[in-house]
Amino acid sequence: MHRTQTKVIQIGNQVIGGGNPILIQSMTNTKTEDVRQTVKQILELEAAGCQIIRCAVPTMEAAEALKEIKKQIHIPLVADIHFDYRLAIAAMENGADKIRINPGNIGSRDRIQAVVDCARERNIPIRVGVNSGSLEKELVEKYHGVTAEGLVESALDKTRLIEDMGYDNLVISIKSSDVMMCAKAHTLIAEKTNYPLHVGITEAGTLYSGNIKSAVGLGIILSQGIGDTIRVSLTGAPLEEIRSAKRILKTLGLYQGGIEVVSCPTCGRTRIDLIGLANQVEKMVEDIPLDLKVAVMGCVVNGPGEAKEADIGIAGGVGTGLLIKKGEVIKKVPEEELLTCLREELLHWEE
Ligand code: SF4
Repeated sequence: MHRTQTKVIQIGNQVIGGGNPILIQSMTNTKTEDVRQTVKQILELEAAGCQIIRCAVPTMEAAEALKEIKKQIHIPLVADIHFDYRLAIAAMENGADKIRINPGNIGSRDRIQAVVDCARERNIPIRVGVNSGSLEKELVEKYHGVTAEGLVESALDKTRLIEDMGYDNLVISIKSSDVMMCAKAHTLIAEKTNYPLHVGITEAGTLYSGNIKSAVGLGIILSQGIGDTIRVSLTGAPLEEIRSAKRILKTLGLYQGGIEVVSCPTCGRTRIDLIGLANQVEKMVEDIPLDLKVAVMGCVVNGPGEAKEADIGIAGGVGTGLLIKKGEVIKKVPEEELLTCLREELLHWEE
């Protein structure tokens, strides 16, 4: 289903599906039992634009910590459960707004039923997650390996199991570190279900390769109109996941707000430290709530022309740089004042 046609699911104070904005998620990497550190990280992520947060719940102490964490944060809290159905129940009793389980590793039908019953009583959505690393043996054999078709069948089998238990407040996720397999699986499953999809490339890698894999994978999936909430998984600080998720959505035209910085690739005409300047500008604009394009160009000769599509820009020259609006030079600025001058312009922005 196109994201405008998926079922609307309420997760705490947020909704996904049915054409609602695609929400950005991340996962804490603190010990969930450590309430203070976990809350600190979640508040930082909230400030950066995280809209749903997930915490691992590997122990009963972690499940109980959710209660205190919930009181101190403002975004929905998802409990991530592996294997132990009692932890899923305890997480819900302690205020989780959603739980993420793989019914395949929860065990017997009775145990899954107990989790579903608890979710139903509280109307808590369940994310049914399947992962290429834990695809059932039968499906690996049936499809001669781990395939997109196998992942889809596994996810649909599990949602059917929960539906048969009388519950359909569900979100589905299919994860694979193989980008093209993941993309294909999303195309296939979107034809077969109207549950909202949580999209992400799992085990994508370090900041560098993880960002590229996530951008390619999410780009293919989201540009087909598939996906209701995303997580960029990086072997890095969770804050980086939020920055990347916002950038990917913005690039696809699926995110309102935030300044986009464009900068020239530098060439033999560049006479200033443009790489340093562009990085400084990118950091400097992070807290400015405007929806604009800012250009950072390396020379005063071609810079203004090349920055035409940006709302505002700077072009660096030795000693003196230029401030540019829509390709027109507005004023000359001493090189060392370019950054502050740009910031002032943005803080007092008028069309
Ligand atoms: S803006 Fe100037 S420095 Fe940058 S790539 Fe173009 S010509 Fe080279």
